[in-house]
Amino acid sequence: MAARPDYYKALGVDKKASQDEIKKAYRKLAREYHPDRNPGDEKAEARFKEISAAYDTLGDPEKRKQYDRGAGPFGGAGPANPFGGGGGFDTSGFGDILSDLFGRATGGGGGGGRGPTREQPGRDVETEVRLSFDQAIEGAQVPLQVATSQPCPTCRGTGAKPGTAPKVCPVCHGRGIESEGQGLFSISQPCSNCGGSGTVIEDPCPTCNGAGMVRTVKRLRVNIPAGVREGSRVRLAGKGEPGDLYVITHVDPSRIFKRKGDNLEVEVPLTIPEAIRGATVEVPTLHGSKKLRVPAGTKHGTVQRLRGEGPRKLDGKGTADIHYRFVIDVPSSLNKEQEQAVEGLAEVMNGNPRAKLFAGRS
Ligand SMILES: [Zn+2]
Ligand SMILES: [Zn+2]
Repeated sequence: MAARPDYYKALGVDKKASQDEIKKAYRKLAREYHPDRNPGDEKAEARFKEISAAYDTLGDPEKRKQYDRGAGPFGGAGPANPFGGGGGFDTSGFGDILSDLFGRATGGGGGGGRGPTREQPGRDVETEVRLSFDQAIEGAQVPLQVATSQPCPTCRGTGAKPGTAPKVCPVCHGRGIESEGQGLFSISQPCSNCGGSGTVIEDPCPTCNGAGMVRTVKRLRVNIPAGVREGSRVRLAGKGEPGDLYVITHVDPSRIFKRKGDNLEVEVPLTIPEAIRGATVEVPTLHGSKKLRVPAGTKHGTVQRLRGEGPRKLDGKGTADIHYRFVIDVPSSLNKEQEQAVEGLAEVMNGNPRAKLFAGRS
């Protein structure tokens, strides 16, 4: 019987780490040891499995609580418990025992269905994808590789070598808990021999080393909706099997269009005469170009917008806008002719626009 794995050590985090810290640690390690990055490296693969198993439990606050209380690794011999409900591990009762002992509020009072090993709630899977700016605007179908855990095909999820079966734990007789003391004041804790599962595997399955689950990399093609941006979290229902798949999008920036919330912004340079006299200028849109009327006397930084020309909104409420910010293009060098023209301008536009800065403070 393998010892109960130390999931905190596997992720290199403190026992008091926040869910966020755990997630960060997991992501960093998962990236480092991902099979795609380490083809043929068995050590990396083993480490990847270890990290994934640790995150399966610690990444889920409920499972983590149960793990902290001392329940065994999850997703182990659970699905194929050969003992039915018979001598099973009454988790809700067990939770109550613990909360009585430690004054912990376990919540849900009497509500069943909190069992750690018997139930396999849909596990959500999260992954990341990089998109070009155009893909993010238009939507895209992208290939993805997702690591998921599935019942081991060799042992069908029992964790026992084919031809053998998990045995009732001789220490706790399948109850999963051990009691010390007597009568009213006995103290119960998860069985030290079986980790609380109530069963022991004498001949572990060679494929999954007794875990009952194997990590597999699934190749999928997924549809990323139009309008995602850097850091969008797209939910693809059911693709995580059995849970949902969440895809975090990373989007390459565009040279022209900058994201401003739902909208896009484009900087449009104007020449000095255009700003002074007004002009009709051509500006880029997502699907071509449009003409914008720039009024005479347009100031640096003025914004005009084209409604509905922006990307699709992710909440499905129509399309966003493009904002055009006019910036006055001041040349850094002039030819002779231009210099003369500017000189002429200086002669006729010779007022002091700063006068009012000194006309009293109120
Ligand atoms: Zn197996
Ligand atoms: Zn036991």
